[in-house]
Amino acid sequence: MLSLVKIVPLVSLILMILIVMPSVVRAAAAESGPVASTYTVPEIKTFSLKQKDVVAIAVEECLPADAVANPLEYKLEPVFNADMMKNRLEVTLMNVTATGGELGTAGGKFIEAFNANYLKRVSIEKAAENRLKITADFPATAKPQITTVKRKRVSRPDNTTVYRTYLVLNFSPGSPAEPAKTIVLDAGHGGKDTGATNNYLYEKNLNLDIALLTRDILLARGYDVYMTRTDDRFINLLDRADAANILNAAVFISIHNNSMPEDMPDSARKLYRGTTVLYNSAAPQPAKDLATIMCDKLAGTLGTHQYPLQNRPGLVVLNSTWVPAVIAEVAMLPHAQDAKMISQRIYRREAAAAIAAATETYFRVCAAL
Ligand SMILES: [Zn+2]
Repeated sequence: MLSLVKIVPLVSLILMILIVMPSVVRAAAAESGPVASTYTVPEIKTFSLKQKDVVAIAVEECLPADAVANPLEYKLEPVFNADMMKNRLEVTLMNVTATGGELGTAGGKFIEAFNANYLKRVSIEKAAENRLKITADFPATAKPQITTVKRKRVSRPDNTTVYRTYLVLNFSPGSPAEPAKTIVLDAGHGGKDTGATNNYLYEKNLNLDIALLTRDILLARGYDVYMTRTDDRFINLLDRADAANILNAAVFISIHNNSMPEDMPDSARKLYRGTTVLYNSAAPQPAKDLATIMCDKLAGTLGTHQYPLQNRPGLVVLNSTWVPAVIAEVAMLPHAQDAKMISQRIYRREAAAAIAAATETYFRVCAAL
């Protein structure tokens, strides 16, 4: 008779195999298709959160603009096989014609050690026949999952379109009672991109401080939080959206302080002040509810003038995120009164508390629906 001690790991191993199985089926189906597409692997992204470790391998193809009948619906599907062993996941990614980053150099290998809560180490190396071999070692307590996540296509001036999909390996606790929601906080601008300015005040620095303060509040309340930047650096807009999509975040919140057009007359500038929140009505999850709650809470807490919500489907971080996404414009930086207020940390702390409270209210509203 098997002891309970032996049964439990056996059961968890079977569960893990079942979770990985659909990817094997999908890979086999793709291989039997008429033409298996080829692609490059330009970069690999890793994320280490409180309750998950994630490896995302970008696969990309550049096609003539008219090569795809329905570009909106098209998704590049990576072809791969997955083998689950005890505490090790091996994935073979096929049809890789070129590699970038650390894999771009001769004999290059991508190796990263994690904090070992859910993933100990991942190594990625080139193998024969245009293959990449991905080996991930994880502890017995972790549960691996494989998904694919599409990035919004990019049209280039040379009349080509770049399609990218991430092969995402997600390692999280095997049996959480209720997994913590992941929140992606995006401090707007950074590095060479200062955002709005008012004398010595730089929007990028104010955004980062509010985002860091918001992170601390949300972490203390048990949420898992990922920051698109934690210091003063330039981050591409699509990379910001990628983080929310790859991590399957419950919400993506981009934190900004508003600017106004350079040519606006001084008389108009004096009137142009306050808080607004931007959303995208055309997004898969438009997040107008979140925007409404966030704008009310921010303006109510800070005592700023409240502008109507802005529907901005043209903004990259709003039209490239597949999860509910908003941009909170906390205050109007060029306006003297707003600038004086947000330059003081006590108000940035209040803004952070308002953003965190609005996010929690939104979760309660969603749960009640
Ligand atoms: Zn901004």
